[in-house]
Amino acid sequence: MKTVRQPVILIYHRVTRLESDPHGIAVRPDRFRRQMELLVERRRPVTLSRAVDAVLDGTAEDGLAAVTFDDGYADNAGIALPVLEELGVPATVFAVSGSLGSGREFWWDELEALLLGSHPLPTGLRIRVGERNVAVTLPADEWSETVRRSTRGWSSRTPGSPPTARHGLYATLFDSLRGLSGEARGRALDELGRWAEWTPSTRETHRPLDAGGLARLAASGVVEIGAHTEHHPALSCLSRTRRWSEISDGRRRLEEMVGPVRHFAYPFGDSGGSRRLVRKAGFDAAFITTPKGARPPDRYRIPRTYVGDWDESEFARRILTSASA
Ligand SMILES: [Zn+2]
Repeated sequence: MKTVRQPVILIYHRVTRLESDPHGIAVRPDRFRRQMELLVERRRPVTLSRAVDAVLDGTAEDGLAAVTFDDGYADNAGIALPVLEELGVPATVFAVSGSLGSGREFWWDELEALLLGSHPLPTGLRIRVGERNVAVTLPADEWSETVRRSTRGWSSRTPGSPPTARHGLYATLFDSLRGLSGEARGRALDELGRWAEWTPSTRETHRPLDAGGLARLAASGVVEIGAHTEHHPALSCLSRTRRWSEISDGRRRLEEMVGPVRHFAYPFGDSGGSRRLVRKAGFDAAFITTPKGARPPDRYRIPRTYVGDWDESEFARRILTSASA
């Protein structure tokens, strides 16, 4: 009997070429195009709703695949959309509503620009981030343009300890900031900026979508817009009231711009005790970021599979032939 390849729901974030990508979320444009071509040739790209139905029904249809993007970067409209349109691949973009047209980069990108860029930093830092005291010493002679260049391939997915104290600080602060509300995080970032005498700017390569880009995606006929909270916090760290506003306000803001929003992706891929709130908010389905889901499948914890900046053979090995969801 022929093995049926279960439906797979892919997670992308960015389609662009980056110097530094500490979370491993950028796929180069040429590789993205090839991945989409292979998906068309060797899997069956379908809408997210169709893939969800197939996951829930335990379908016997072979090789269904849905494409999703998290966060809502401008490159989704500028670089990914033309490829999706040309190849007729449906996709869903889960957008962080508070970043749309905010004129600011996503908070993790601001942190990366501050700590892993060329800006000189004081050697000592003491800061309170939420409930956590962070105190570090950055060796004065550790960071240079040469070190910056030689470590820019580092990502949090790289095994082993961070290559420099700045990378360690990035990881610590990322971890501390992710659990804060939007306001508390903004205050902590402002304090870091004062410490470093640094003012954030929006790099062309790191722009979130603006209202025009979101509208272009929604009007394309191949992209559906989904919700991804208002400020991208780790939901498990917030009070119920705050979780509710992140989930419901994020959706309302998007719906004001593009009409009905039916799907939700949990920030950082974990439902964080918010499954019921997402259901109460009226979403049809919600998505986590691990490739293994509950059995029987849970409509509000549908698994997805990460895709990296992979060449043809790695994409084929990990995605095209995989028999499991
Ligand atoms: Zn996200």
